[in-house]
Amino acid sequence: MKKQSDIYADIKAVVDALPIYESHDHFAPNPDGEWPKFDLCDILFHNLNSDLTVSGMPGIGSHAATPWPQGTTDSVKKWKVVGPYMRNIENMVSYLGLLRGFKAVYDFPYVNIDDENWAMLNEQIVAAYKREDWIDYVLREKGNIQVAVVDMDTLSTDRDYLIPSMKMDFLMMQGTDPEGIKRLEKRFGVSLRTFQDLLDLIRSVFKQFKEGGAVAIKSVAAYYRTINYADVDEVTAKCIFDKGLKNITPNEKKILQDFVMNEICRLTEESDLPIQFHTGKLAWNFQFIENTNPNNLTTLMRKYPKLKFDVFHGGIPYTSEFGVLANNYPNAYLDINGMQWTSLDLSRRCLSEWIEMVPQNKIMWGADSYRVYEGALGQTLYFREILAGVLADKVQSGLYDFNFAIALAKKIMYENVADFFALQDRMNSDGKK
Ligand SMILES: [Zn+2]
Repeated sequence: MKKQSDIYADIKAVVDALPIYESHDHFAPNPDGEWPKFDLCDILFHNLNSDLTVSGMPGIGSHAATPWPQGTTDSVKKWKVVGPYMRNIENMVSYLGLLRGFKAVYDFPYVNIDDENWAMLNEQIVAAYKREDWIDYVLREKGNIQVAVVDMDTLSTDRDYLIPSMKMDFLMMQGTDPEGIKRLEKRFGVSLRTFQDLLDLIRSVFKQFKEGGAVAIKSVAAYYRTINYADVDEVTAKCIFDKGLKNITPNEKKILQDFVMNEICRLTEESDLPIQFHTGKLAWNFQFIENTNPNNLTTLMRKYPKLKFDVFHGGIPYTSEFGVLANNYPNAYLDINGMQWTSLDLSRRCLSEWIEMVPQNKIMWGADSYRVYEGALGQTLYFREILAGVLADKVQSGLYDFNFAIALAKKIMYENVADFFALQDRMNSDGKK
């Protein structure tokens, strides 16, 4: 009988050579068409701001608020803000994964990033981000990421392997708020006096996204409210809207928002696109974690049985609920993207359980690195180890044979994403674009 370590080595060697299709990540040029020119601290902000804040760094820890004064470009000043808190997170896998990505592409022989060595790493990062092909080198050449479905609120990703998924939450949040309505009117050059005007705008935005090449609709509304959406009929929603948005109660506002999300789901189902939902742990601090329980989506899942729900992030901390949901609902798909930023051990244990209880066509992975290529690379290195380790355990125990384990790896690494987002026409037989 083969030793466990040999089985792992054999599976890992195959997994290392396979391409990855990511279900979810965050890469696109800035609105002006330029790719970002990051320094080390920009990268730390994008990938680790929440962890640094949790460790004691002053601030609110969100994608929207840098821990240094807005517009600071001086790397030394920025390092003085984050540097004192770096030591606190040296044990965390979010930091270690990013460090692993750095070490794979830069000359950085040190154990940790500190006051003595940050500048030499920073210099290499600044030079690398001036390269037009840096993203391709890190993601495709080093990470063998051949496709990534990206959430960046743009259809113009500048790369044919970065495929857009578009958020429509802003219509739900702004379309039910008196100030938000004004912003929508300005942005789209429309008048939103009647309920029908709002419905027309939702339909026209959806059409624009679909015709523009979006392969999915995405919702991150868990950052703003519960993802428990009641089944609201149009007459009730219209009655509330007609009262005037300034006059409605918070509960009426929720009902109206629930209706808008139902409308988004209805349009998405009708058009055969899937929908992606953030569930579980949030990247901003001081959020209501209970709002994000994936079980909250069951009302929508029951109402739209043909709509495929791509349920994100393993639902951390609601991982047990998450597995049962994908086990019970034919339209619930299990997306483990981003879990490794929280815990490798949790990711491993959950994947080991879920592989046994969720159909093999329903498990997908993505790096979920906010704008940072090296972060995505570090996550792929973790992922290949975790997947190979979980499969080796199953082969060792006699549950699967070797060839079946490899076939399963291919599904989780790229075939399922290709099927789910209907990307077959974009790929060659070797899984490359
Ligand atoms: Zn994300």
